[in-house]
Amino acid sequence: MTEIFAGSFTQQEPIPDEAIEAALRVMRSGRLHRYNVAEGDPGEVALLEQEFAAAMGAKYCLAVASGGYALACALRAVGVRPGDKVLTNAFTLAPVPGAIASVGAVPVFVGVTEGLVIDLDDLAAKADEADVLMLSHMRGHLADMDRLMAICDTAGIRVIEDCAHTMGARWRGRLSGTDGVIGCYSTQTYKHLNSGEGGFLITDDSGVMARAVMLSGSYMLYDRHLAAPDAQAFEAVRYDTPNISGRMDHLRAAILRPQLRRLAEQCDRWNARYRAVEEGLRGTPGLSVVERPAEEYFVGSSIQFLLLDWAGERVQEAIRRCAARGVELKWFGGAEPQGFTSRYDSWRYAPSEPMPATDRVLRGIVDMRLPLTFSIEDCRLIARIIRAEVGAVWQAG
Ligand SMILES: *Cc1c(COP(=O)(O)O)cnc(C)c1O
Repeated sequence: MTEIFAGSFTQQEPIPDEAIEAALRVMRSGRLHRYNVAEGDPGEVALLEQEFAAAMGAKYCLAVASGGYALACALRAVGVRPGDKVLTNAFTLAPVPGAIASVGAVPVFVGVTEGLVIDLDDLAAKADEADVLMLSHMRGHLADMDRLMAICDTAGIRVIEDCAHTMGARWRGRLSGTDGVIGCYSTQTYKHLNSGEGGFLITDDSGVMARAVMLSGSYMLYDRHLAAPDAQAFEAVRYDTPNISGRMDHLRAAILRPQLRRLAEQCDRWNARYRAVEEGLRGTPGLSVVERPAEEYFVGSSIQFLLLDWAGERVQEAIRRCAARGVELKWFGGAEPQGFTSRYDSWRYAPSEPMPATDRVLRGIVDMRLPLTFSIEDCRLIARIIRAEVGAVWQAG
């Protein structure tokens, strides 16, 4: 009998009851705006920022309206101006080059390796082209952060980390988002905490955080923040920093606080699912598993494998056959971007030179979400289906 998988690749877990009750309390209070607080109550947003800063080991944290907003706010907060070049990954999602374009800056794309991380040789070669690297830990793959920071420190490049897929991940024990000047996170539904939309920005730099808080739309109410520098840091920036509203509200913060307390446990649950799929795929003819470095603690909320040097039609055939058995795969190699699978050459507002080695990797990347609603047994079944269908197409070719 042919096995079929019936689960949904976009179905996340329900919001925990504790979070729902906290959200009801906020709604009953009528006070949803972050600066609308009762006497003596710091409010959900300020408390969440304090808790997220503590969880990441950062001095300061700002909660904002989305991950994309956090990225653009970070660029502004470090002083990127219209026309400036910003280094970034050729393999990432559209909000990353989009954030760079939103401040009038110009992305300079850096290639991707077969390990699905930023190509550090290419980064070193392009290091004199820009003063800022917006580093996307795309799909949770961490580059050698020691070597990356050495390259950037030597070249005087400031690093903004896009940790949309690495909240809770670590490189040699250091939490993702704490190596660069700023770490940015998303709490959009498909990431590691779920508030529908939302994001964070962390830093240890008081000037950067003061600007970020002003930018996010704090008016002159910055003293209501608990994870921000003291009033003195704001004196230097309060008249010179535009208000570009993008605050988080108490309702989303209320939903996030209980989820944050379970983050480490959830990361382990994702990884158990990831390892089950990985184990089932290992050894499939024609398919390369992406080996994870021992220095990396990752969060396996999605998994990628490579069909390197396959003809496009055969990749499509394998994906079609998996889809017919209920397994939803996304391919970064298609001629046209679909869903979230755009590439550096799809972003025509940001012209780029062709990168043949990167194109070869991109043409081979197949991606799959791993929501926590899947059981370990589901993951084993999914791997069996991929193994059978990819194997069949490989053998026929
Ligand atoms: C989701 C995502 C973002 C943006 O987050 P939003 O909260 O959706 O704006 C940025 N970078 C990557 C890699 C993402 O996956």
